[in-house]
Amino acid sequence: MEEAFVRLLCPECTKEWQSTPRDLPAPQNTFSCPECGERRRLSEFMRTEHDLETLRDLQ
Ligand SMILES: [Zn+2]
Repeated sequence: MEEAFVRLLCPECTKEWQSTPRDLPAPQNTFSCPECGERRRLSEFMRTEHDLETLRDLQ
């Protein structure tokens, strides 16, 4: 099976990166930006609705 990635974007510092869904917590859990330390729900770091759907589907 092809590895799926979700794209993340920090709403605070605008850092962009990607990760695999299994390396991330559930969307409603608090997540810290690796760049600036901003803490928000992980769902707020998803770049698009599609990325959030991918995360939900693969967790
Ligand atoms: Zn940040």
